[in-house]
Amino acid sequence: MKAWVIDKISDLKAVTEPLSLVDLPKSEAKAGEVLLKVKACGVCHTEIDEIEGRTPPPTFPMVPGHQVVGIVEATKATGAVRIGDRVGVAWIFSACGECEFCLSDQENLCPEFLATGRDHNGGYAEYMTVPEKFVYPIPDYFSDAEAAPLLCAGAIGYRSLELCQPENGQNIGLTGFGASAHLVLKLISFLYPESKVYVFARSEHERRFALELGAAWSGDTTDRPPVLLHSIIDTTPVWKPVIYALECLKPGGRLVINAIRKEAHDTDYLAKLDYPTHLWMEKEIKSVANVTRHDVQEFIRLAAEMQFKPEVQTYPFSEANRAILDIKNRNIKGAKVLML
Ligand SMILES: [Zn+2]
Ligand SMILES: [Zn+2]
Repeated sequence: MKAWVIDKISDLKAVTEPLSLVDLPKSEAKAGEVLLKVKACGVCHTEIDEIEGRTPPPTFPMVPGHQVVGIVEATKATGAVRIGDRVGVAWIFSACGECEFCLSDQENLCPEFLATGRDHNGGYAEYMTVPEKFVYPIPDYFSDAEAAPLLCAGAIGYRSLELCQPENGQNIGLTGFGASAHLVLKLISFLYPESKVYVFARSEHERRFALELGAAWSGDTTDRPPVLLHSIIDTTPVWKPVIYALECLKPGGRLVINAIRKEAHDTDYLAKLDYPTHLWMEKEIKSVANVTRHDVQEFIRLAAEMQFKPEVQTYPFSEANRAILDIKNRNIKGAKVLML
């Protein structure tokens, strides 16, 4: 089968083809697993963190991709999922099911958490295998391409919003406006219709897109919104927005950082952290780690209920490297998806 692989750590400023196209033996389902014929796979900023070594695969080569939509072609599991079913695979490939975290609805924090496309081959390939317990039926309402971004951008966006603990009417900020944030904006207007959303983004293009989607206000990362905010979700890969976001929080406000890793090149911004301005008055910072199956199921259910189709930009399978570089270069409008 054809597959794109990460075979080494590389610097995307210097390399234009970080993934290699290879021929691998076709995957085979082991006990408890299903084999999927992949139809679509979302492209996520996390692939860049893997390629550049901030959260590298433990072994090479590794097939990336953790927003996978496929058709079940074979099964060696209980039969809860049948041949011909269309299902999705998310970042959570498996968790132990027995630790204190798994037993308390926090399987995202499991010490044995395995990530699809980092710790196990993912969806940038014609086929992949996955434990039956870690797939999700995809509602007919979504095309393959539309369903892919629900599985990471949407699911982790849902988790980030839950961690804000919002109430209807509270003002919520989003700093960074990529695939996840645009889904969160739609989710806020559905779940909390009285709340206003304030979007901070570097590019004029992203700021305009936010207003088109219903944001009350949009400005540059360093701009001050007209009101202080109850909570802010940061989806950027850098530090500068963290400092500026903390300034925009109300007393008792919470900043939720939705990033698996932060880049190191602007850590000097952390030296600007001024306790009375940025943290006093019981402001909080919380990170988001991974997703649970519940997050994925809930976001898929909500997206179908709100009849919301994510904005997607599709790429042929052959152009995986172009899709990666487009994300690196912030050439972003909605979510990017590889089509097989
Ligand atoms: Zn992702
Ligand atoms: Zn566990």
